Amino acid sequence: MSKIGVTLIGLGPMGQAMVRKLLAAEHAVTVWNRTASRADALVDEGALRAEDVGAALAANTAIILSLTDYQAMYDILGTATDALSGKVVINLSSDTPAKTREAATWLAGHGAELVTGGVMVPSVLVGEEGAYVFYSGSRTTFDRVQPMLKVIGRPDYVGEDPALAQLYYQAQLDIFLTSLSGFLHATALLNSAGVSAASFQPYAEDNFASMSMYLGDAVKQIDSGEHPGDQASVVMMGATADHIVGASEEAGIETGLPRAVKAHYDRAIESGHGADSWTSLIERIKKP
Ligand code: NDP
Repeated sequence: MSKIGVTLIGLGPMGQAMVRKLLAAEHAVTVWNRTASRADALVDEGALRAEDVGAALAANTAIILSLTDYQAMYDILGTATDALSGKVVINLSSDTPAKTREAATWLAGHGAELVTGGVMVPSVLVGEEGAYVFYSGSRTTFDRVQPMLKVIGRPDYVGEDPALAQLYYQAQLDIFLTSLSGFLHATALLNSAGVSAASFQPYAEDNFASMSMYLGDAVKQIDSGEHPGDQASVVMMGATADHIVGASEEAGIETGLPRAVKAHYDRAIESGHGADSWTSLIERIKKP
């Protein structure tokens, strides 16, 4: 059986990387991009250029979108809604869960189905070992396009709600972005005493590597709602959070991040959870 053809709209770094992997796997790929010149190299490499959005949609049933946000989808597909009926739109663009659900309704109104996705690697790693993508939406529809999607990374289907893939994506980026800022803040603290980032690196690496060790017990406590703090209590860790704020003030560096962390501990202590473990902070995070 020949491989299904696919249309890819949105040729930023991600879209371009996906087109190249799909071509390498011998899928026929039709491309369209607002700035047409971004398709030139891909056409030289074997992609088919659609002259307009209507032609891009007409070329295939499977339509991958790799755009800045969901507004870009409306800006593009809104110009050719007559061509949407029967299409499977696989939107791999980032946006909020609510906007994702609205898009599913909008597409259904035009006879198309939405599969949402969040790509969990940078463009240079698309389709490489370890690359994966969260997907959600109709399972039946997803199964129709899954073999083709394997080319860009391991497809991890997370549920029927189209917003779920976005939430998983954002949860991963929530950890990633917060951790990166934490690392930079810690480095700035050491820089204030003349310590270089390179000197700190082995210790920061050790810290990141050991972080996942805590998760096994943490998820049990979070899911059960039981937070025994016999090994390390909120009061003890809150005192450390306070010391980091003090150290940051003394160093003259930005204090917003450590103050936000300290606030979690302060509120847990104020509400009588000082003897619990740090996992009980999740209740304060859920009810700001
Ligand atoms: P870019 O911002 O480089 O590309 C975005 C694409 O969207 C371009 O093709 C651009 O067209 C198009 N676009 C944006 N707004 C509009 C609009 N209003 N109308 C028409 N077209 C529009 O993004 P990336 O390729 O880096 O990323 C694409 C998606 O993948 C994003 O949602 C991003 O969050 C996600 N992602 C990116 C990663 C990365 O490492 N880059 C990693 C994981 C996910 P034009 O060329 O004309 O400007």
